[in-house]
Parts: sequence; structure tokens; C-alpha cells
Amino acid sequence: MPVQDIVRFPNSMLKQPATPITAFGAQTSSLVRDLIDTMRAHLHCVGLAAPQIGVSLRACVIDVSSHAKAQTSYGEVVLLNPEIVESREFVMAREGCMSVPDLTGDVPRAGLIAVRFHTLLGEVRTLEVRGFEARAFQHEIDHLDGLLFLDRADSHHGIFRRKAYR
Ligand code: ZN
Repeated sequence: MPVQDIVRFPNSMLKQPATPITAFGAQTSSLVRDLIDTMRAHLHCVGLAAPQIGVSLRACVIDVSSHAKAQTSYGEVVLLNPEIVESREFVMAREGCMSVPDLTGDVPRAGLIAVRFHTLLGEVRTLEVRGFEARAFQHEIDHLDGLLFLDRADSHHGIFRRKAYR
């Protein structure tokens, strides 16, 4: 089952903290494959978290390499059990989400973060990430904690309706 349906707001799956991954075998690899295939199936999608395809596990994938706003990129990144261990240089910018297709929001995020996570082999890695890519990391990691950009944006002045696409 490669490309999966996207779970949309207000589905309660998106509000639920996801469970840590403890087995780094075929099942986790197949979940990650589904995440990558689903991310690739949507133009402009720069990241996807497991709860967005209906799986409450702490896994997400990110690839900002083809996005105009990305000045730095690690390419395709798989994060299992990611944890932000350092964050600074907060900046405000507009964000969207596959699970909230009709809205965008102005969200403050750190411009520089360090993230510790497990690889598919269960090894622990740390990456330093900046700018737009750091924003994408924080957005996807929020999904694993049951948080949407709507929870981070100012509810009165920071949320906008998308123009209708034709
Ligand atoms: Zn999202």
C-alpha cells in the first residue's frame, strides 16, 4: 500500500500524541516507504508525519530540496522518535499543512535547531538544521505530539483562508 490517504483536520488522530518506535525492522521500513510515496505524490509537499496517514507512531519524512524557500537541505530525511534538543533564533513565517488544506497560518519557529532521532537501523543521530528546513522539521515533529500549526498561530490575526485553486 504505497500512497495513502491524508488524514484531515478535525480528525482526532491529529490531536493524539504518537507512540515511540521501538522496533527498527521491516514494519517500520514499510511505514516510512508509505510516508515517502505519499509525500512524493503531492506536489509542494515537503514533509509528512505518520499520524497524517493514520498511523500513531513517531515517524516522519522531510524533503525541502525542491522548495524555493529552502537555502539549505539534507535532501530526503527520515526521522524516527525525533527530539528537538536545541532551538534558537525564532522567526515568524506562513505555513500550510496537507491535513489542513483550506488554511495557512503565521507561526513562530526557531531558525536554528538541533534534532536527535533514530535512523531506520535504530542508530542515534543528531542534525543541525536551519531556516526553512528547520521550520519543516518543527512542523512535522509537532504532528507527533498531536499539534497542528493552528495551535501555534495566533487564532485571531495569524490564520488565513487559502485562495481557491482552480
Ligand atoms: Zn502538517
